[in-house]
Amino acid sequence: MESESTRAMRDDFPDDVKRSLANRAALICSNPDCGASTAGPQEDPSKALNIGVAAHITAASAGGPRYDPNLTPDQRRSTPNGVWLCQNCAKLVDNDEVYYPSDVLRAWKTLREHCARLAIGQTRQPAMESEIARRGREISKHVGQRVMLVKMPNSHQATTLGSRPWNGNSVTLVECTEFYVKVRGDGWDRARTIPLENIKIGHDERLNCIELLEYD
Ligand SMILES: [Zn+2]
Repeated sequence: MESESTRAMRDDFPDDVKRSLANRAALICSNPDCGASTAGPQEDPSKALNIGVAAHITAASAGGPRYDPNLTPDQRRSTPNGVWLCQNCAKLVDNDEVYYPSDVLRAWKTLREHCARLAIGQTRQPAMESEIARRGREISKHVGQRVMLVKMPNSHQATTLGSRPWNGNSVTLVECTEFYVKVRGDGWDRARTIPLENIKIGHDERLNCIELLEYD
């Protein structure tokens, strides 16, 4: 338990400095090897969780880690003397001040704030989803359902028989990964695996289900 007298000698950060440090780091731990998010929702829909710490770069009181006697109390509890860390990293840096000198913490802070500045106002990069991945995502919504499997004629067959598709088979869609689909028809002794790249998606009006158009 800290006594009133030692507490009085600690140059703790006021709340507005803590808030500023948290926001300047975009609520992310400044240790570049960590990068933990330090805030999020609680079960209680009105509350937020915070596991972030406004850590002192040089200690708040004499004898603490990286204590700098040349700073005034005001400098010690001002924003430039703080770095936003998660609880784990805050413990880490205070337990080993030789390995984590103030220069290292300042570098972490500079880096984190630089990244936070670059990220401001940036919209999410549209994920580059391949056509095949998109197809897989679409088909996987129908796993477990009956679908029509329609074998499409290859170019040779198309010239001799016309491009009219073969009759469809009603099959069960057993599995869909990012690479293949597995289907099984009535009376088949095993499921068939078809590479996604050989499949196009259609819709069977009559049965109101998706069609897997299989190309060679
Ligand atoms: Zn951390």
